[in-house]
Amino acid sequence: MKSPKSISRRDALKLFSTFGASAFLSACGASIASPAGRKNSVGRVVVVGGGFGGATAAKYLKIADPKLEVTLIEPQKRYYTCPFTNLYLGGLREFNSLGHGYDELRDKYGVTVIHQKAADVDPEGHRLKLEDGTEVKWDRLILSPGIDIRWGALEGYDREAAQKAPHAWQAGPQTHLLKEQLEAMPENGTFILVAPENPYRCPPGPYERVSMVANYCREHKPKAKILLLDAKDNFSKQGLFMQGWKENYGDMIEWVGLSNDGKVIRVDADKLEVETEFGTIHKADVLNVVPPQKAGFIADRAGVTDESGWVPIEPETFRSQKHEHIYVIGDATQAAPMPKSGFVANNQAKVTARAIVADLRGEDPMPGTWANTCYSVIAPDYGITVANVFEVHDGELREVPGSGGVSPLEVDPTFRRQEARYAAAWYAGIAQDTWGTKPQS
Ligand SMILES: Cc1cc2nc3c(=O)[nH]c(=O)nc-3n(C[C@H](O)[C@H](O)[C@H](O)COP(=O)(O)OP(=O)(O)OC[C@H]3O[C@@H](n4cnc5c(N)ncnc54)[C@H](O)[C@@H]3O)c2cc1C
Repeated sequence: MKSPKSISRRDALKLFSTFGASAFLSACGASIASPAGRKNSVGRVVVVGGGFGGATAAKYLKIADPKLEVTLIEPQKRYYTCPFTNLYLGGLREFNSLGHGYDELRDKYGVTVIHQKAADVDPEGHRLKLEDGTEVKWDRLILSPGIDIRWGALEGYDREAAQKAPHAWQAGPQTHLLKEQLEAMPENGTFILVAPENPYRCPPGPYERVSMVANYCREHKPKAKILLLDAKDNFSKQGLFMQGWKENYGDMIEWVGLSNDGKVIRVDADKLEVETEFGTIHKADVLNVVPPQKAGFIADRAGVTDESGWVPIEPETFRSQKHEHIYVIGDATQAAPMPKSGFVANNQAKVTARAIVADLRGEDPMPGTWANTCYSVIAPDYGITVANVFEVHDGELREVPGSGGVSPLEVDPTFRRQEARYAAAWYAGIAQDTWGTKPQS
């Protein structure tokens, strides 16, 4: 490791992108500076969305250059993560433990946090309009608004239907509604989950969800049935999930893929019924619909989405392809083969923060690499993983050949137990990195 004085700016920026704040700071021998006054400012960056992508970007911008004026726009004073909401449904986690605040960003890093919704963007005038009409000026804008639901894209599934057949794909009231319905389900009831086509937030999420619903039912409603109707024939960590379901829950979970008439084309939320492509009607006691999605609406307002509803980006920096001073990260982007995960959003934020600092200094961005590790918990002592590293190759994002993989199929129970523990450790680590939340003992 180089001495504090000899580390170059290039090395320092690379360090924080790859290893995070502590490595970056300890290598620099630096302490974090207090917020910069306007006259010392080297640029104004406004970040919309204080989730995995946005909160991380705000922090790492300030670490890269404390003289940047960084403003985070996020309506919620407490953000609840989607990761581990499935564990809450399964009875393994308290909902409160999934909430995170913005004190560290404000007090330690000097980010200005405004708890409002961004209502509109003027890309040419470099202005963001908030819901109360206030305008915020920026030199560079980062959007990390996550997803919105494409209401009506699945026939019968609108906002009203979601009050009877929750999606619970954004953490909060929808999660509580689904939990209440699960608890009120008859002992021998049928829980149906409808899974969408790609792309959508958290590819393994539906499969972890039915695992955790089964974990709840095993204890409280052992005669229940869980039916997963899927618009796909293949899904993330498929072999591992199937094996885990059999080992932990016997025949409780039935998965029906696209080729076996698993694609749902119509929802009747009043009757808790769904109709598949070939006309089969399934009746549920609890109906959980994961609907088609798109980028959060503010991306549309900024004019950075395309006809897919997602945001095309320049792969090296995640600069929008449509506006050179707007960057977009997280679930809102088209960044395949990267999945729409919190881990990836956090990584993208670091690479993009670095790119924006270079951009404002008139320097070229350094090449980035991004990683993803996604844990899924099938049962309390039973975890599985997929991991990948991504790079830009010939102008396109791709998985680094040979870089990733999934947990092995043939292992003894200790291995699965360890992976369930790593999942909890991962959550604690990313929550600390993103919002400064102290790990719970
Ligand atoms: C059930 C489930 C389980 C999951 N499990 C995992 C997991 O184990 N590991 C993992 O890595 N990922 C997991 N994910 C995926 C993860 O939740 C997302 O990929 C991640 O939240 C994306 O981060 P983001 O910053 O793009 O969006 P978000 O985290 O959704 O943050 C967006 C923020 O923007 C704010 N916002 C939106 N619009 C505006 C606006 N106009 N103005 C101001 N603020 C706005 C919102 O309030 C929100 O706080 C899971 C998802 C689900 C649904």
